[in-house]
Amino acid sequence: MKEKKKNSKIKKFKKLQIKLGHNNQNNWEMDNLDKKKVETFSQKYMTFITKNKTERETTRYVKKLLEDKGYKENKGKNFYMLNKEKNIAIVRVGKNDLSKGVKLIVSHMDTPHIDLKQNPLYEDTNLAMMKTHYYGGIKKYQWVTRALSLHGIVVLKNGKEVEIRIGDKKKDPVFYIADLLPHLSHKAQNNKKMGEVIDGEKLNILVGSIPYKTDESLKEKIKFNILDILYKKYGIVEEDFLTAELQLVPAEGAREIGFDRSLIGAYGHDDRICSYAAMEAILKAEETNDTYVVLLVDKEEIGSDGNTGAKSYFLKQVIKQIFLNKDGKVDMVKMEDCLFNSKAISGDVNGAIDPDWKEVHESMNAARMGFGVCMTKFTGSGGKYSSSDANAEFVARMRKVLNKNKVGWQIGELGKVDEGGGGTIAKFIASYGMDVVDMGTALLSMHAPMECASKVDLFMTYKAYKVFFEKF
Ligand code: MN
Ligand code: MN
Repeated sequence: MKEKKKNSKIKKFKKLQIKLGHNNQNNWEMDNLDKKKVETFSQKYMTFITKNKTERETTRYVKKLLEDKGYKENKGKNFYMLNKEKNIAIVRVGKNDLSKGVKLIVSHMDTPHIDLKQNPLYEDTNLAMMKTHYYGGIKKYQWVTRALSLHGIVVLKNGKEVEIRIGDKKKDPVFYIADLLPHLSHKAQNNKKMGEVIDGEKLNILVGSIPYKTDESLKEKIKFNILDILYKKYGIVEEDFLTAELQLVPAEGAREIGFDRSLIGAYGHDDRICSYAAMEAILKAEETNDTYVVLLVDKEEIGSDGNTGAKSYFLKQVIKQIFLNKDGKVDMVKMEDCLFNSKAISGDVNGAIDPDWKEVHESMNAARMGFGVCMTKFTGSGGKYSSSDANAEFVARMRKVLNKNKVGWQIGELGKVDEGGGGTIAKFIASYGMDVVDMGTALLSMHAPMECASKVDLFMTYKAYKVFFEKF
């Protein structure tokens, strides 16, 4: 009898907990989770992330996919718009008055990597090498002694553009940054700070070692052998490197991680995981009277500057084109209203709590792997400095829609208050006056050559974006 009474009390308390507490759930345990859909979506994403390792490649891939689906450049109700092969906007025009705003998801396709310098090729100690300059926030030590592939374009003297992609295929050669052997690193490395262990000027890649075959006693025979190969294969001469954009990226493709295969290891989850989810969401979302826009941008990793970064004029160009396609003319006042009244998601990743590095997170407010799409109310550092900080009212609307549509989601803050921090595109979008909040997939090892994401979080990111277009 006593036991029964105790049990009913526990049940009552459980009910109270559910009613009054904040019940975050491991999304793998959700009742309505369609694991098959999670798996199918993840497999498609893994193919995408393996194929597209730069902003240019992603732009081209998205463009091709849209054209296959009947989207036209700058024309019609469903259209896409390009900005210099490094930004692409996907638009579905709705019936509603545009001055009330559009629904916008912005994410970035650029990823930390290593660029070739403009004068890269040299010979030293019987090896041909190329000089590099890294792009974005990398931990340099993570990029040495691993297989790198070379991606990008070279614009030749005659204006012809040559696309380069060497290292992804099994039969391709790769490129390689050597590191010092532990036997000899005592003075040169072992007592240095992390950022100084590998000097930026020592991130040079190995590109060859065979001298050009000739009887003449020439200098730099190995270097000229490489130039000879490049000329024969691509028509490239040394000066053409001045007009090239060549990036070194990890050669490996996406892999499933763990005995249960629940996680995805890949280069460039940040932020092509959100770019992919946003693209899938806008293509699959049911039609409403609202206008949907997905904007995929470049240069986020170096501050969103430049004419292909989120600070550029491209969003305005896109809005202008929407007016032209819908109303046949552009009313500047209405256009300003449209930007001001729009609702946006800054689709970007956050750092999930790492069991080995719990000390940098504040566990009550850190994102967890498998706990759904991560909403980040504010980013910034040193006391929310340089963050747009979304309004509670806007977050509340988002919360209601996500809960109602059974999207697994969590709130995540990037690390402890004084630990460090970072920013996203949100603040640049917010400067138009529109409501915006960060929402994306939480990662382990962000900015590493192989980052780690959860399949269920990827799926919830897609679901959240789709629900935003359809129901928000
Ligand atoms: Mn990012
Ligand atoms: Mn980043």
